[in-house]
Amino acid sequence: MRPITERDIRTSFVNCSKGEATRLGLPRDFADLPWDDLDFLGWRDPGAPERAYLVAERDGRLVGIALRVTSGASRSFTARSMCSLCLTTHTGGGVALMTARRTGEAGRQGNTVGQYLCADLACSLYVRGRKDAAGGAAVEESLGVAEKVTRTEDNLRTFLDKVRGS
Ligand SMILES: [Zn+2]
Repeated sequence: MRPITERDIRTSFVNCSKGEATRLGLPRDFADLPWDDLDFLGWRDPGAPERAYLVAERDGRLVGIALRVTSGASRSFTARSMCSLCLTTHTGGGVALMTARRTGEAGRQGNTVGQYLCADLACSLYVRGRKDAAGGAAVEESLGVAEKVTRTEDNLRTFLDKVRGS
């Protein structure tokens, strides 16, 4: 994705209040993120570990999604689980169930969308082999990086559309 600014990020959120978007903690390494290798920007709030965020481009616009981390540590240490975006497998809490409040009326009624995601939201780097999943990644795949990137983007689009109720 193209590099984006702090202001881009804070104004991109579609499913949280303006106040929350203003207060949220940016990624620690924001100054030198590997933008060329990112399909989306995802991170855990450095000041609030149960919160996570995801910012992606959709139809030429930035869409930011605020997420609640609802599980992760409770899984047994040897259990494998898979991220539903990039399909990387992890052990020991490397995947967490995250929920996003839906936009609009559905969100006001408390509707959320749950998704199992890489706990550090570094899907783009796992897919490109720039980061290794602890104890995971044992599933042999014949897909190349380009296909995996496309698949991750497709899954991400589906997720964004679910949150936005379309
Ligand atoms: Zn992932």
